[in-house]
Amino acid sequence: MQTPTATPSKIRRFTSASDYRKRFVIQEQIDKYLPGGKHYIDEGEIFSTLSTAEAARANDPVRIREILAKSRAIETLLPEETATLIHVTDPDLLLEMETTALAVKKSVYDNRIVMFAPLYMSNLCVNRCAYCGFSCGNEEQKRRVLTMDEVKQEIGVLAGKIGHKRLIAVYGEHPDTSTDYIAETIRTAYSHLVKSPHGAVVGIRRVNVNAAPLPIEDLRVLKQVGIGTFQVFQETYHRATYAKLHPADTVKGHYDWRTPRSTARWRQAWTMWAWACCMDSTIGSSS
Ligand code: SF4
Repeated sequence: MQTPTATPSKIRRFTSASDYRKRFVIQEQIDKYLPGGKHYIDEGEIFSTLSTAEAARANDPVRIREILAKSRAIETLLPEETATLIHVTDPDLLLEMETTALAVKKSVYDNRIVMFAPLYMSNLCVNRCAYCGFSCGNEEQKRRVLTMDEVKQEIGVLAGKIGHKRLIAVYGEHPDTSTDYIAETIRTAYSHLVKSPHGAVVGIRRVNVNAAPLPIEDLRVLKQVGIGTFQVFQETYHRATYAKLHPADTVKGHYDWRTPRSTARWRQAWTMWAWACCMDSTIGSSS
């Protein structure tokens, strides 16, 4: 009988950081989600929607309450509705917005709190983000990549001693810690069972990942090893600010590769809200 041959992996591999920088971004996978070359975040439209809402003086209680009722019904808000809420200044309406936000939170999550432990697997990175100590331009940084034995030791403490069941595994962006490494660390985290102080056998039930955007083929590999959530930090959606913080000759400097590849209009409302919340706040992340 013939032994079936394994399906060859479609994960691309890279010989060095500079090879990775040159070849990692796959233009076809960007173009596929930009119909007609148009990005789902239309900055001109966002600014115009915000100015229209500002000019309309967003303190009309009837209109605001209509939008809040829609929120309470857990319906997605349109960009115009989000812009209207952003411009509310009336203290009573602001209070109604706060109580609505709490009601929405309770309706979706109730009082459930989910705890997860961050586990930094590596701090190698090919990028030079202006706000990050992992930047490859930071020569002071001591570089580390956890071995599988070290991952097990960490699980021993996080699951065995502290009692965590969920991880957020964090990786810099580098060929030495690309998809093969991420998959191996996830497998190791799931398979390493330890004894709790009460003698029970415990382990990690869900490994979420915080890493750089990956090609579709690589995401399939992570799905196969049972990843929880794949999380990509986006410190700002505002192109000019993004360009200031992420040098253009880096992988992360490629805004269209970085941003979620989608065309849904509701994302514009979310983006507008994210601008409003993040433009003045401190930026910090990994990958
Ligand atoms: S923020 Fe992420 S991508 Fe940028 S330098 Fe730090 S680890 Fe690398």
